[in-house]
Amino acid sequence: MRVMDAPGASTVPPATPPTWSFINRHTGQPEKVTCLTGCTRDHARDMGRDIFPEDVWCWFWSDPLTLPVNENGTPEEFKILDTVIKVEPWSATIAHRLPFAVIELVDDHFIDGLDPDGLETVINTLAGRLEQMRETHRQLVEVRNEYRARTT
Ligand SMILES: [Zn+2]
Repeated sequence: MRVMDAPGASTVPPATPPTWSFINRHTGQPEKVTCLTGCTRDHARDMGRDIFPEDVWCWFWSDPLTLPVNENGTPEEFKILDTVIKVEPWSATIAHRLPFAVIELVDDHFIDGLDPDGLETVINTLAGRLEQMRETHRQLVEVRNEYRARTT
């Protein structure tokens, strides 16, 4: 359960992303980084410090959504379909040096590294599933009514 330690999603981002610096632990040289627009991370721990550039990232989260999920007999609130937009300017994965999306399907289960096309694919897949769920809902109402109307 990680609901309570979810990053602050509703923090209002600054209009102009801040630029800050750190010491590149590989080279000993100062590096400047300008936050992702809308970044809600608190970089205070990294500013001016000796850190590995690959450990620098910016992100912001969607508003949290939870549903009671039954994992072990007792329903608990789990985060579902949380989406983060993230960038890792010095990532060893080149694609992550541009902003990308990560979807937390349900508590700690992620679809990572989504470019806009990838994110759209997930959205379309989920939209298709929602249509199917609406159909299932219709069927449930129907079979339930029929079931309750039975006389024997
Ligand atoms: Zn940032």
